[in-house]
Amino acid sequence: MGRLSVIIPSFNEEDNIENTASVVGSVLKEAGIDYDLLFVSDGSTDNTFSIVENLSKEDNRIQGIQFSRNFGKEAAIFAGLEYADGDCVAVMDCDLQHPARVLVDMYHLWEEGYEVVEGIKSKRGKENPIYRLFTKIFYGIMSSLMKLDMNATSDFKLLDRKVVEAMLELPERNTFFRALSFWAGFKSTSVSFDVEERKAGKSKWSFSGLVKYAVSNTTSFTTAPLKFVFALGMLLMVFSVILGIETLVNYFLGVAADGFTTVILLLLIVGGCIMISLGIIGHYIARIYEEVKGRPRYIVSKTTKE
Ligand code: UDP
Ligand code: MG
Repeated sequence: MGRLSVIIPSFNEEDNIENTASVVGSVLKEAGIDYDLLFVSDGSTDNTFSIVENLSKEDNRIQGIQFSRNFGKEAAIFAGLEYADGDCVAVMDCDLQHPARVLVDMYHLWEEGYEVVEGIKSKRGKENPIYRLFTKIFYGIMSSLMKLDMNATSDFKLLDRKVVEAMLELPERNTFFRALSFWAGFKSTSVSFDVEERKAGKSKWSFSGLVKYAVSNTTSFTTAPLKFVFALGMLLMVFSVILGIETLVNYFLGVAADGFTTVILLLLIVGGCIMISLGIIGHYIARIYEEVKGRPRYIVSKTTKE
């Protein structure tokens, strides 16, 4: 029997906080689980944090942190891991897309001795087709690299204190929580859940935000794109050798190599490949630059705990 801390990253979720706190609270109370809720307001500009403050005055199991600005969900999760002090820690969304009753199953699995309990989406909620295609490509790449089905993974998980400590030991600033729990190892299992509809408010993701998220996660987690650059170079080499042989054969056959269009096309293709490759390498240099600067992952401006 241990205490469960639930971390809830919230960015401009004023319409959700009260409902989420009461739904999660009552589900856990009913199951007889000792818990506390930690809302991490990720630089919300609405009343999110003041609502949390009011709730925490009435119920000391509810606590909150406010960031000085929006640092992103990843930072909010890690701030939560740092502040939460339960024997096990769960992360869930503020919009109740992650059903609260699954927390109970996760908790029981933890009691049985599992140190990581992954929430796996059995059915994705309503998503627009572009988003779906995009996540498919992104997770396709990640899955093949990690040899597990990332498409169904989520940030909804429960971690034992040991695992939380291990994650907090990681020195890097650009993290990818969803994959790190797999990377960390430990005795793990999963529960599947149906993604529910968002309770109130709008999704915080824009398309450009998603692209940024995917790029930053890929480059902070793997060096596979650099291998792609190498493979591209090899491919062009092979191509040029074939083209060279063909030209030579033509020369001996007495056929004049006609070639202005070919030259321009080749220039464009090679130029494009070089630019893409430089861009990919540039992303990694940017990552190194960010890590080397060593800026904090987030800045806390207010907390409900003194
Ligand atoms: N979130 C956050 N910071 C952000 C964006 C989102 O803390 O910059 C939180 C948000 O409040 C919610 C969770 O992350 O609790 C998931 O966000 P959302 O529901 O907008 O994403 P979706 O479910 O559409 O993927
Ligand atoms: Mg959501």
